[in-house]
Amino acid sequence: MTAAQSWEARAEEYSLYGFTDMPSVHERGTVVLTHGEGPYIVDVHGRRYLDANSGLWNMVAGFDHKGLIDAVKAQYERFPGYHSFFGRMSDQTVMLSEKLIEVSPFDSGRVFYTNSGSEANDTMVKILWFLHASEGRPQRRKILTRWNAYHGVTAVSASMTGKPYNEVFGLPLPGFIHLTCPHYWRFGEEGETEEQFVQRLAKELEETIQKEGADTIAGFFAEPVMGAGGVIPPAKGYFQAIEPILRKYDIPLVSDEVICGFGRTGNTWGAQTYGFTPDAIISSKNLTAGYFPMGAVILSGPLAQRVQDAIERIEEFPHGFTASGHPVGCALALKAIDVVMNEGLAENVKRLAPRFEAGMKELAENPNIGEYRGVGFMWALEAVRDKPTKTPFDASLSVSERIANASTDAGLICRPLGQSIVLCPPFIMTEAQMDEMFDKLNSALKKVFAEVA
Ligand SMILES: *Cc1c(COP(=O)(O)O)cnc(C)c1O
Repeated sequence: MTAAQSWEARAEEYSLYGFTDMPSVHERGTVVLTHGEGPYIVDVHGRRYLDANSGLWNMVAGFDHKGLIDAVKAQYERFPGYHSFFGRMSDQTVMLSEKLIEVSPFDSGRVFYTNSGSEANDTMVKILWFLHASEGRPQRRKILTRWNAYHGVTAVSASMTGKPYNEVFGLPLPGFIHLTCPHYWRFGEEGETEEQFVQRLAKELEETIQKEGADTIAGFFAEPVMGAGGVIPPAKGYFQAIEPILRKYDIPLVSDEVICGFGRTGNTWGAQTYGFTPDAIISSKNLTAGYFPMGAVILSGPLAQRVQDAIERIEEFPHGFTASGHPVGCALALKAIDVVMNEGLAENVKRLAPRFEAGMKELAENPNIGEYRGVGFMWALEAVRDKPTKTPFDASLSVSERIANASTDAGLICRPLGQSIVLCPPFIMTEAQMDEMFDKLNSALKKVFAEVA
């Protein structure tokens, strides 16, 4: 390697890229970043971008929050690392578990820590397999999720993820069943009302349970709003229709709140926004405001009691990660929860959500935007070639990638997902920054639609 080589060339030579469109990288180069300021990120050439995706949904307090950075520094000085095995754990871990149950929708419960959202979903599946086997139902192993769901990338969580791209890995594993995505605009049939659509999905769930056998199903996992599926809020009444069916067959309902948790939808939990009661919550991303890799499985009181009883019977739960309950991650999560809930961040989401929606509605007047959808601080615009028939653009045109690239050129980071553009800015975003986001996106939309229409 020579000093003359660019950052972009060095990145491309030595790094294996994940979830990256390689032709775009070869053509445009890698954006190599050095630091951030509030909701902005800065690259090695000093270019600033408004990151309307909060990094990857997670940097909700922005990129230079002093309180969070101070909390990390203080904990590194005090106790920079420890595990949670063999009956030992840090004081920060004890405090975070108390805090998570306090802010959860549960009266009591227990928490298990991981390093990521994928591992938290993986852990939850293992908890369910372990629990059912311990209670004398070892055949209860199948997992129900939905098409378009995103639950992570480990072999099990990728099997739960409902995306065709996992076929290259020979996934999903057997026993992972995907139900219809609750997106009425796209999957509602000709002449079908939203209510009829929801009834059809409820019927599909019940028929699937009966066909597979209720006694073979370990659990049902759902994101309150599908995030990486393209910001898909559930059809109206969806959770109210499916929750009673899951209860009837005694199937645990797990809410994957990795994106929705801690204020993204305008309430602490997405389950609150959509009025359902899960048996467990999966958290990550916002949990540490993205300043430390960490995930958590939060079990409701009754489920935690059953799991604890099962553990007592065999005396040990043989599962855990070296960094489970890491003291720095826990100290940071405690601070992040305080910052989001008590320092005005969650409040800001609530306050600006109507303005966000108004801006999206206006952008959706564009004849090539078929739908705008979202809630709180997570929204998407879906591009279409023909609005009345909802006909998408030819995939070879890469319309959403082009919009995202044109936005990047204008100093705005937003994400292409299928034919949609996703906006999920940090919770600290101001009115002026929101206007900047809409202005830049509007120019990018106009430019790209003029090219392809
Ligand atoms: C990101 C995400 C995950 C996976 O989290 P990682 O930390 O990337 O493993 C799981 N579920 C949802 C809903 C997510 O958005």
